[in-house]
Amino acid sequence: MRLEPTNIQQIGDEVAISWNDGTESFFKLETLRRACPCAGCGGEPDLLGHISRSHVTYTDESFQLVGFDLIGGYALQPRWADGHSTGIYSFTYLRRLGEALQ
Ligand SMILES: [Zn+2]
Repeated sequence: MRLEPTNIQQIGDEVAISWNDGTESFFKLETLRRACPCAGCGGEPDLLGHISRSHVTYTDESFQLVGFDLIGGYALQPRWADGHSTGIYSFTYLRRLGEALQ
């Protein structure tokens, strides 16, 4: 079975993803942004807790979600309030991230 979200919603400062295998993942918006996998943010983070990157500058708006798009049925692309939207989070990446954060 291909991993896909059945529901994605923002609840306060968290994003909740329900997966089609019946599990759920929760992400703080700040954690999600710091884990941005785009080239500008430094690529895929080490999931063993080393998510923050000192060379990336964040503002309060960096951790506010404007919205998100689903890309080709395999990834989530968040749009952040500071204008950043180049991070494409594949579903498998989100799933691994969610498990690493538990
Ligand atoms: Zn990024």
